[in-house]
Amino acid sequence: MGSDCLFCRIVAGEIPATVVRETSTTLAFRDIDPKAPVHVLVVPKEHYVDVATLGQGDPVLAGEVLATAAAVAEDEGLLGDGFRLMFNTGAYGGQEVFHVHAHVLGGAPLGPMLTRSLG
Ligand code: 5GP
Ligand code: ZN
Repeated sequence: MGSDCLFCRIVAGEIPATVVRETSTTLAFRDIDPKAPVHVLVVPKEHYVDVATLGQGDPVLAGEVLATAAAVAEDEGLLGDGFRLMFNTGAYGGQEVFHVHAHVLGGAPLGPMLTRSLG
């Protein structure tokens, strides 16, 4: 994927980001437009489009993304009061960047899970 993908370019160091944690297979960096006091994105370094392709294509790597997200939550002091972990997926999920990323959100009460109700 590489040069066409924003998050591949962040992984490659071609676009700056505020990195908060890095492992051999994952990178965590602050969202450029935070929606909560803590808003960190966790990506696998390898390009997968979304959590469905990652989860089915490489469940071990998917677990490493979760482990990094948990470590970020701990580092950011979110374990006591709780946090939200979110993978927006596809058009209905509101996904804008098509390199799978977990949103780690916390630092204040986050409100209802969805603002739009059914019906
Ligand atoms: P999505 O809607 O795909 O789940 O989330 C994409 C997220 O990426 C958004 O929260 C957006 O603010 C963030 N984002 C978009 N461009 C950049 C960027 O260049 N750097 C960083 N750090 N975050 C970005
Ligand atoms: Zn990518």
